[in-house]
Amino acid sequence: EKFVYDFSEGHKDLKELLGGKGANLAEMTRLGLPVPAGFTVTTEACRAYLATGSAPDELAGQIDSHLAALEATMGRHLGDPSDPLLVSVRSGAAFSMPGMMETVLNVGLNDASVAGLAAQAGGDERFAWDSYRRLVQMFGKTVCDVPGDDFSDALEEAKKACGVTNDLQLDAADLRALTERYKRIFAKHTGHEFPQEPQLQMRLAMEAVFRSWNAERAVLYRRQERIPADLGTAVNVVAMVFGNLGPDSGTGVAFTRDPATGAQGIYGDYLQNAQGEDVVAGIRNTVGLEELKELDHRSYDQLLEIMALLEGHYRDLCDIEFTIERGKLWMLQTRVGKRTAAAAFRIAAQLVNEGAIDLDEALLRVNGAQLAQLMFPRFDLAGEPAVLTSGIGASPGAAVGKVVFSAARATELAAAGEDVILVRRETNPEDLAGMIAAQGILTARGGKTSHAAVVARGMGRTCVCGADAVEISRDRFTVAGRTVAEGDVISIDGTSGRVYLGPVPVRPSEVVQYFEGEPVDSTLVEAVHTLMDHADARRRLAVRTNADTGADAARARRFGAEGIGLCRTEHMFLGDRKELVERLILAGSDGDRKAALDALLPLQRADFVELFRAMDGRPVTVRLIDPPLHEFLPSLEELAVTVAVARERGEDHAEEAQLLDAVRRMHEQNPMLGLRGVRLGLVIPGLFAMQVRAIAQAAAQLAADGFDPQPEIMVPLVGAVQELEMVRQECEHIVEEVISGTGVRILIGTMIEVPRAALTAGQIAGAADFFSFGTNDLTQMGWGFSRDDVEGAFFWRYLELGIFGISPFESIDREGVGRLIRIATDEGREVKPDLKIGVCGEHGGDPESVHFFHEVGLDYVSCSPFRVPVARLEAGRAAI
Ligand code: ADP
Ligand code: MG
Ligand code: MG
Repeated sequence: EKFVYDFSEGHKDLKELLGGKGANLAEMTRLGLPVPAGFTVTTEACRAYLATGSAPDELAGQIDSHLAALEATMGRHLGDPSDPLLVSVRSGAAFSMPGMMETVLNVGLNDASVAGLAAQAGGDERFAWDSYRRLVQMFGKTVCDVPGDDFSDALEEAKKACGVTNDLQLDAADLRALTERYKRIFAKHTGHEFPQEPQLQMRLAMEAVFRSWNAERAVLYRRQERIPADLGTAVNVVAMVFGNLGPDSGTGVAFTRDPATGAQGIYGDYLQNAQGEDVVAGIRNTVGLEELKELDHRSYDQLLEIMALLEGHYRDLCDIEFTIERGKLWMLQTRVGKRTAAAAFRIAAQLVNEGAIDLDEALLRVNGAQLAQLMFPRFDLAGEPAVLTSGIGASPGAAVGKVVFSAARATELAAAGEDVILVRRETNPEDLAGMIAAQGILTARGGKTSHAAVVARGMGRTCVCGADAVEISRDRFTVAGRTVAEGDVISIDGTSGRVYLGPVPVRPSEVVQYFEGEPVDSTLVEAVHTLMDHADARRRLAVRTNADTGADAARARRFGAEGIGLCRTEHMFLGDRKELVERLILAGSDGDRKAALDALLPLQRADFVELFRAMDGRPVTVRLIDPPLHEFLPSLEELAVTVAVARERGEDHAEEAQLLDAVRRMHEQNPMLGLRGVRLGLVIPGLFAMQVRAIAQAAAQLAADGFDPQPEIMVPLVGAVQELEMVRQECEHIVEEVISGTGVRILIGTMIEVPRAALTAGQIAGAADFFSFGTNDLTQMGWGFSRDDVEGAFFWRYLELGIFGISPFESIDREGVGRLIRIATDEGREVKPDLKIGVCGEHGGDPESVHFFHEVGLDYVSCSPFRVPVARLEAGRAAI
């Protein structure tokens, strides 16, 4: 088996085997660009090593022969004391995992070859010792787990002892002494001397790269980014080139377009007389790429030429690492670069305009998560507010408020109309009320799957977590020497993770303004427009919205909704109407009940008139009342107290007592599994009939006024076809009576949200004009998770344990709940090929889930108004 590939043997499409870095180094080599010679050890070798604990037998021999070839190319031998070849040993997985894996430079140096290196560099001893001390440091840190601080402390001390502030001011003797010091630190921590044998250095470094795949932070990162855990990393061995050979040398990074804004042009940083990580480590000040033009015109021109070539070749923004060794340019890395959401849209549209890619490809280069990000309000950073600290952007948004340190204080101030930010070391279920009351949440500990992060995302609250520089005490926190007390205002950015002291002005999203139909003149909006248009042209899934009011429906329509997939009617029974519902529930006789229903009918009808008008000409799915009725009654505890107090005082309490009886009677241990949905309709005579009558009358009235209402009546919580048949019979009757002769057509269908309904969908289809998957309940009942309880109680732990990578309430569980959806769709359509099938529930606006619904062959998804554009975009992408 072949475990090692020379750079001249690979190409860019071998990422899985060679890792991203290796595949692209090979591609650049093939393109004839100046890449130092080298070879790549495959991810397969890594997987074998991780599985067995040792490298496969053939590997050593293959490495030897590739090293020999490399030595022949370079005309030098690894570690040769008089004229050494040095190499870097670099990690590189198929997915870029920034800062997760390790790299060791200058492998091959030892006490003897350091002199040879100096001779190679024309007697530059300073350079040789600088390279050697870097090797001991990097090797110690990444291969042998020596604490990096010990090295950087020693460097600081050396600078102080010499009275200098800059590492460039240390001379050869200083660096030699520092190297000796580093070697002692190495020996102290590892219990053995720094290895002098170059081949051994290389082998140990390679194995460390293999092992770094399973380092804790790498595991965590993969889990968060949902990168499979078993891919392994490749290892690249690259002949060293030196940017630390003097002022005509240096190292830099560059982008072919601005990764922050997408603006066309050349962006980057350059650092003279430096090696590798120095540019990003911020130890000295870098200069902009324009200045390289002054420093080294030839290399600059060549770099620009290469960048243009790479962009043309990859047809996308590339980022690049390069080094200049005494005026000669070397390419050390390139890849299709990461970018912000705004840049992703702008660049995709630019590349279409430039003729580099077509619209299909452009659409694949953006995604719904990016679009969602662009739809949040942003901080206006024009005033350049100072960043107080930063953490992990865990739930997007821009929140401004007074700092509070307890959930109790948060609810108290919020009740008084204040905006607050809840600041906690970490949150736990007891903080829930405070999290709901707050504009945003800031925690010092925990990552994207911590309690705070999971709950905040679930509620759509802005959250920054893991701001670990923040030290919290009871009524204040300190960070970077500043103290922030309760009541002080801070601003937190849930996208970037940045925290600002004081209020930062919030700017509405221009993308939302555009969707709202306001005139916005920006390149971003133009790009969004182009790509949304194409998504609409491509997609097969229709996109509807969940809306209960005319206002919501109208907004969703502006956002592109093609109908309402879920109108919940329970909200229509709140407020003033609660009393009527109470009367209905408490009715002692048929007459009382009828009176209550008669009073509700015109109110419901008016609701539907408003809704159908806002969605004129589009389907509107109305779900008959769903939640347990006792939700409309006062709380048992409160009522019991009221009655007891009245009784004590000898006041008249007959009415309250009667109510209390009813509440007791209706009390349920598991209300979500109790008397709700279709069960209510079958138990409370006249309730569904009243709703159906209101729907039909509203439609008839609008039709008479020249509108085109398209109601669809949806029965919730059906588990058996008999339930639906009985409701249907009653409804059809009323519908007939009201709409005959009006030209209105009303469909009657059902939700599929009880697992039994999914499994008997073939039967249920016989009585249904359409299915709509209620994925929230289907998930809840499929897993046996009480949605209202589990997210705060233990989901963070499940995520941490990797039981699932994302909450099944956020993104559809393809294997389990998804299987129910497939079965129901297939079996329903077998009986009724033209059965209309959709999804309501928040999964309808989740990018991953939209792709799944497309694959299964549904007709539409329905989601909250703000997710409608996201669903349109993803439905378009799914169709490519
Ligand atoms: P990362 O993936 O963290 O960027 P790299 O493997 O790219 O790690 O290497 C870290 C740094 O060392 C980069 O700046 C890279 O350009 C530099 N480097 C890697 N190999 C060589 C080499 N053979 N010669 C000179 N510099 C190198
Ligand atoms: Mg790199
Ligand atoms: Mg439901």
